[in-house]
Amino acid sequence: MQLRDYQQQAVNAAIAHFKQTNQSAVMVLPTGAGKSLVLAELARIAKGRVLILTHVKELVAQNAEKVELLTSAGSIFAAGLKQKDNSAKTVIASVQSAARNLTQFSASYSMLIIDECHRVSLSEGSQYQLLFNHIRQHNPGLKILGLTATPYRLGTGWIYKSHYHGRVGSTEHATFDRCIFELPLRPLISKGYLAKPVLLDGLTAQYDFSSLQMQSGMDYSEQQIDSLIGKMGRATKLIVSQLCQLADSKQGIIIFAATVRHANEILGLLNAQGQHAALITATTPNTERDQLLVAFKAKQLKFLVNVAVLTTGFDAPHVDLIAILRPTASVSLFQQMVGRGLRSAPDKKQCLIIDYAANGYDLFYPEVGSPRPASKAVPVQVPCPDCQFANVFWGLVDNDGDIIEHYGRRCQGLLEHSANSAPKQCSYRFRARICPDCGGENDIAARVCQHCQSQLIDPDKRLKEVLNKQHHHLFRCQQMQLSDQQGVLQVQYLDIDGNPFYRHFKMDTDAQRRALYALFVHPHSRTPGLKPKNYRTASELVADQDKFRMPQLILLKKQAKGWQQLDSFFDYSGRYHNQLNYSDEGE
Ligand SMILES: [Zn+2]
Ligand SMILES: [Zn+2]
Repeated sequence: MQLRDYQQQAVNAAIAHFKQTNQSAVMVLPTGAGKSLVLAELARIAKGRVLILTHVKELVAQNAEKVELLTSAGSIFAAGLKQKDNSAKTVIASVQSAARNLTQFSASYSMLIIDECHRVSLSEGSQYQLLFNHIRQHNPGLKILGLTATPYRLGTGWIYKSHYHGRVGSTEHATFDRCIFELPLRPLISKGYLAKPVLLDGLTAQYDFSSLQMQSGMDYSEQQIDSLIGKMGRATKLIVSQLCQLADSKQGIIIFAATVRHANEILGLLNAQGQHAALITATTPNTERDQLLVAFKAKQLKFLVNVAVLTTGFDAPHVDLIAILRPTASVSLFQQMVGRGLRSAPDKKQCLIIDYAANGYDLFYPEVGSPRPASKAVPVQVPCPDCQFANVFWGLVDNDGDIIEHYGRRCQGLLEHSANSAPKQCSYRFRARICPDCGGENDIAARVCQHCQSQLIDPDKRLKEVLNKQHHHLFRCQQMQLSDQQGVLQVQYLDIDGNPFYRHFKMDTDAQRRALYALFVHPHSRTPGLKPKNYRTASELVADQDKFRMPQLILLKKQAKGWQQLDSFFDYSGRYHNQLNYSDEGE
C-alpha cells in the first residue's frame, strides 16, 4: 500500500510540525482525498500510542480498516460498533464512547488524532475537551492533530489561529493553534483522483432566495426559507420533474432540501412519479437511517433526499448527480454538498451538479473567512500596501474581472516572527473607524478603542446630540454624480427628496490635488488599499465615476455662505438610515 504524493506530503508536514512544537495542528484535505490513509500512516510511524477519535461509527470503522491495512490491527472502542477494546497500540474510538469511559483512557498516549475536527467544540464541558484534559494529565506533551475538509464555521470562523501560508485565522474562537497543511480540490480532479464536477445549464426552474437575510452570522433560518418556498409556487414541481427526466441516465442522486417540510414535498413528488426514493433527516432513527443508506448504496433506491445530514461521514461513490435545493451562506457547506458526488467509482467519469437555489458559488472558491455580504460577491485578491500579503476578501468585479469594490477590513497577513514568539497579525486596516481621542484605527464595528480603551461614540448617539442643536441637517444620500465644471471637479449628492448638496475640488496645484485625495478619492474609494490612479484632471475622475461610493449620510451645518459638511458616514447601518426622526432647520 503506497500513499499518494500529497498524502505523503501531509504526513511529512505533521512530522515536521510536531518535531518543533506541541502546539495543536490542523490539516485540511478535501472529501475523497483519503484522510483515513494519512491518519493511518501517522499511527503507523508514531513511536507511542495513538488515539484516533471521530463522531460517527461509520468513520470509526473506515479509519480502523485503513489502520489495519498499513500496520497491525488497532482496537475499536465504539458502542455503536459493539466493541470496547483499547488494548492495541492504536485505538480508534468514537468520542461519545471514549468520553463516557474516561477512566479507561488513563494510559499514556503520545498522539491524539481527530477526524472531522471542525466539530470539536471549545466549550469546557464538551466531550472532546473532557478527553483532551484527561489524556493530557497523563502526558503533558500530548500532540493533538485534527483533520477536516472544512476548517471554517459560520458564526465562529476559522478553527485555527494561524495558517502556514502566513495568514491569520480566528483569534477568538479557534480550537487549534495552527493549520499546517491544506490541499486544494483542483489538482485532485485534474489527476483523476476525484470525479469531475459538471454544472448543468438549462434549468427548468430555480428558486430565488436572494431576499434571505443572514441571522447574525449563522445560516438562514428554516422559517424564512419555508415561507419563501411557499411563495414560489410551481418551482419545486418543475425541478422534480427535471430530476426525474435526468434520472434515467444516472446511477444515484442526492437531493439537498432546505427544510423538513420542503424535503417531504420533494419526496411526495418523486413517489408520485414512481421513483425509488427515501428521505433522511436529523430525526430519522439510527436503524432506519442505516437501512436506507445500505439500500441506496446497493442502488435499490435511486434518490436520497436529505436535510443537512449527508454532508460528512457518508460515502456512496456511485452518486453521479447532486441537486442542491437549499440556500446557504457558507462556501464550505456548498462544497461539502458537491463533495458527496466527487468520489471516483467504476463507470463514472463525472458528476452532474445542479444548483437550483442559485447559490452561485464556484466549486473552487477559497473560503473567504466571512459570510458573503452580497449575492454577486466573489472572492477577490487584494494585496496589503504595508506587508504585501495577498488577502482574499469578498468583492465585486466587472466583466473584465477587475475589482470594482472589496469588503475587506483588516489585512489577514501574519508578520515574520521568531521561533519563540506567537505570529502577529499585520495591523493595516482597509476600512477603519478612527478614535476621536487618540486617532488610532479600529475595526468599523468596534465599540471600544483598541489603543486607548476609550469608548467609541456610537454614531447614532452623536447624531442625536448634534441634530438637537440648531442649524444642523442630516443629508441622507441617494445618489452621487461627478462632473467637470471647467476643470473643477463637482460632486453632486442628491437626497431622497431630490435636494442637491455640492462639493467642489480644484485640481490646479499639488496642494489642491492632495486635498482632493484626502477629502474625496480615499474616503470614497470602493477598493481601499489598492493604489488609486494618479488623477490630473476632473474629466479623468468623471470617467471613473463607478470606482467611487457615496456615503449613506452627510452631516451638514448651516453657515453664512450656505451648508458646510461636518462629517460623512460610510458603512452606516443605524437608525437614521430610513427614519425622519431628527430635527433640523430645513432648507
Ligand atoms: Zn498587511
Ligand atoms: Zn483611542
